[in-house]
Amino acid sequence: MRALSDTQARPGCHPPAATVEDFRRNLAAVRARIDAACRRAGRDPAGVRLLPVSKTVDEARIRLAYAAGCREFGENRVQEAHGKWEAMADLADLRWSVIGHLQTNKAGLVARFANEFHALDSLRVAEALERRLQAEGRALDVFVQVNTSGETSKYGLPPENVPAFVQALPAFPALRVRGLMTLALFSGEVERVRRCFVLLRTLRDRLRDGAPAGIGLDELSMGMSGDFDIAIEEGATVVRVGQAIFGVRALPDRYYWPGEAQP
Ligand SMILES: *Cc1c(COP(=O)(O)O)cnc(C)c1O
Repeated sequence: MRALSDTQARPGCHPPAATVEDFRRNLAAVRARIDAACRRAGRDPAGVRLLPVSKTVDEARIRLAYAAGCREFGENRVQEAHGKWEAMADLADLRWSVIGHLQTNKAGLVARFANEFHALDSLRVAEALERRLQAEGRALDVFVQVNTSGETSKYGLPPENVPAFVQALPAFPALRVRGLMTLALFSGEVERVRRCFVLLRTLRDRLRDGAPAGIGLDELSMGMSGDFDIAIEEGATVVRVGQAIFGVRALPDRYYWPGEAQP
């Protein structure tokens, strides 16, 4: 069994990127890992999209990442994302993805600026988004979040609830369903992490044939700084990578995922 390298197992080792050169170097290192994982899996790297995750990163450093070539960013918290979108409206080709749990009272903000939402896990949120998107005259690419680790602290639908949920989604035409999303178990044990990704892929494969018209299930959003190599080996089409690009975050992950155990 292949062990995780130090920076994979502990993405906190990445030093903070402070110059455009730092970002170019980190992005090149991430792309090299993506390419290597694709080679191992016999996949075309063009089939894996890198979504840089900029949560907690300030505007000045996000602009450096932009200068290094990033044209989209993922954010965990809606208000933080919306504030950055407003502050960087001058960068017209920038796209924003909301990748964290959403409360219905924040749906209006998402409808205003986001291009993508990766954490759809309830019909109440789908209804709220649909109503606000209709009002804005916009559409949103969405991923259905699945809890593949069985941890009660993680958001997302239990896998057994996903088939019925997907069948209900044609009622929301402003939501363009692209696929499934998950967060794997936080663990240094590769095979336990891999099992989460395999579960998401097999669920997607099972649902794809019977999916309602207009509901796309081609995409798998899975893998972060510590585990995206494994996710790609198991079929990820979008990897959400923060610390391997921006450097270590000041706040521990349990700040973003309430109830998360300390590493
Ligand atoms: C923060 C975050 C990531 C990226 O995590 P890193 O360890 O910084 O790569 C990915 N997905 C979600 C939902 C996140 O909140």
